[in-house]
Amino acid sequence: MSLTARLVRVRGVVQGVGFRPYIFRLAHAHAVNGWVLNAGDAVEIHVEGDAEQVASFLAGVGDDAPVAASIAAVDVSDATAVHLDDFTIHASRAREGQTAHVSPDLAICDECLAEVRDPSNRRFGYPYINCTGCGPRYSIVLSVPYDRSATTMRDWPMCARCQAEYDDPASRRFHAQPNACPDCGPAYRVWREGVASAGDPIAAVAAALRRGEIVAIKGIGGYHLACDAANAIAVAALRNRKFRKEKPFAVMACDLHRAGQIAELSAEAIRELASVARPIVLAPARMTFEGVAPANRELGVMLPSTPLHHLLFDAGAPDVLVMTSGNRSSEPIAIDDGEARRRLVDIADLFLIGDRPIARRMDDSVLGLRPAAVTMLRRSRGYAPGVVARLHTHGPLLALGGDLKNTVTLVAGGEAFTSQHIGDLEHVEAFGSFCHAVEDLLAMHGVRLDQLTVVTDAHPQYRSSAHAATLGSARVIAVQHHRAHLASVLAEREALDRDVIGVACDGTGYGDDGAIWGGELFAGSVTRGLERVGHLRSAPLVGGDAAAQLPVQCAAGFLAGMDDLPDFEAAPFWFPPRFRQAVTLSRQPTRVFRTTSVGRLFDAAAALLGYVTPITFEGEAAIWLEQLATLGVSGVAYPLPYTDGELDYRPLLAAVMRDRVAGVPSADIARAFHAGLARGLADAATMLARRRGVGVVVVSGGVFQNALLLGAMEQRLATAGLECWNNRVVPANDGGLSLGQAALAACQGGEAANA
Ligand code: ZN
Ligand code: ZN
Ligand code: FE
Repeated sequence: MSLTARLVRVRGVVQGVGFRPYIFRLAHAHAVNGWVLNAGDAVEIHVEGDAEQVASFLAGVGDDAPVAASIAAVDVSDATAVHLDDFTIHASRAREGQTAHVSPDLAICDECLAEVRDPSNRRFGYPYINCTGCGPRYSIVLSVPYDRSATTMRDWPMCARCQAEYDDPASRRFHAQPNACPDCGPAYRVWREGVASAGDPIAAVAAALRRGEIVAIKGIGGYHLACDAANAIAVAALRNRKFRKEKPFAVMACDLHRAGQIAELSAEAIRELASVARPIVLAPARMTFEGVAPANRELGVMLPSTPLHHLLFDAGAPDVLVMTSGNRSSEPIAIDDGEARRRLVDIADLFLIGDRPIARRMDDSVLGLRPAAVTMLRRSRGYAPGVVARLHTHGPLLALGGDLKNTVTLVAGGEAFTSQHIGDLEHVEAFGSFCHAVEDLLAMHGVRLDQLTVVTDAHPQYRSSAHAATLGSARVIAVQHHRAHLASVLAEREALDRDVIGVACDGTGYGDDGAIWGGELFAGSVTRGLERVGHLRSAPLVGGDAAAQLPVQCAAGFLAGMDDLPDFEAAPFWFPPRFRQAVTLSRQPTRVFRTTSVGRLFDAAAALLGYVTPITFEGEAAIWLEQLATLGVSGVAYPLPYTDGELDYRPLLAAVMRDRVAGVPSADIARAFHAGLARGLADAATMLARRRGVGVVVVSGGVFQNALLLGAMEQRLATAGLECWNNRVVPANDGGLSLGQAALAACQGGEAANA
């Protein structure tokens, strides 16, 4: 009998998501023989049989694929039949120099949830239950291909029953790498004052949370600190012990119904909250929990994502828990048990510690609801290490991002993989995670350093830039900060050739001239280069980036060059004496930095409206100003004229001062400031777009996380017949820089710049 045989290679997120069992079942359904295996960069299938059956099998690949799988490409080629008499799943084959797609971590599936709640099931109450459709992935992977021996589950050999499931193609746990049960798998234990307690750990923790205690809970990508969100004393204690003054805490609601009671959830918000990634979603608050999100109209909400979370709520934990990262102030989240106990000992009353090690730190991801779409604010657990864009390069390329909100991006095989959020590199632990993430990405994709192009920010003092020199790569390219922001949007859209006008606004970035940029207008494309064609009028900034700590110090620089200034130390301003010193220093050109930063302009406006104390976290004054503006009803837009490539902030700030002295409500002033800024930026961009005959304005940079500003700009540009493109996949803040750097460097091709 003549047999038809084909070799099929399926690329995409196809490992660790139940893809091979799915192919196995498909093969049986179509009565074809052959094998399937994980081949490092792809799932490889050899199929043979009757021509018609092979064809129907091939047509079926992709139908009813596992929910967490995402197929990028299916290549079919002719093969030689070897007359197999069954279809089998083969062991994985590691291959060098190829791209592997490891799945992000997946929230518990409905079937596992039903089992863990079923007293007759052998995994009743077992916090490590999982299957091919759910459970940890990237957070437990040590190397590729994805097999149990290459995960942090390698120290727990399966018992006979688990192994039988693992080997049974009909089972939901067929080749589920983290498969485990109470007999053979890891467990959770409660520790109080350094001693492990006996008894049911979950019941004990639920009771402690009810009593108002603070618990450090080991999760998927690190430790959380949890307490009852409705217990103001517990929340205050957590703030105190964590040294976290004002920054909002995220909360976890026991279910979607409860989440809808505490925050206003749009259909979009619900879809994101309940997605397999289970991110934190920022939504308008419907209830206030004292101390959880002080002076904030939004609440960061998430749903349970692991079996453990569900079990805690089932055991009677308060139905809304503060769930904040297990760290002190802005340090990175703790992942190692010993490290967690050491670092969190003064914060947590007790610890809920699971045995399964965490391979890498993964923070909770954060999404914001913005007028046009949902925006990524922090891309981490549930999303990383997914592909963010397709980019064509001559060889592998690694972009190291910036020093704040760091991420790194590797381009290999035409795809860009952006790491999880790593954080601020000034922290030793974060810098360690950064080095680890670099090694991780290179190892997972089999990239050799001598073939690698490394890309950095142009800032000469960034730690990330300095690290590039230690890697020993083939070459290093430096990319200017704001061009990278804009390129990140164009990379997401695969529009590298597109001629656009770009508006990049953020707090700080190193400019071509060595000044602190952050309010920049560009024209051009990623492939041909982005030329700076305009900017915010430059202002002196006493202390440089350090001025960002104190809004009045920023205000001093912007106001120093203006006429007819009121007495800022009297009503209604009440600036501290520090302001006058800063003004004096601002007028001595040798003593100051220069800035065109819109982030700092926000600080100056906030100071004029009463924000005269130091900030406690990055961007706090700007967020305060945005919140204030949402309460305003003014239809006014203050002037921000654009002439000769310069946006003049003086009329804008003069209007703020005038209205403040006249007793106009602060909320209305804040609103008119936003409207004026949006109009000024949009009109300047429109003028440039008309002059150059382009139809798209790209906006990026941390300032555009401001929903009010972004919404007003989009509207104004739409009225002018222009499209407004902003980030969707990676954050508009510095978390998106590495993708933009990669895109710009990819386009510089062979004639590399150096650094
Ligand atoms: Zn499951
Ligand atoms: Zn077992
Ligand atoms: Fe930036």
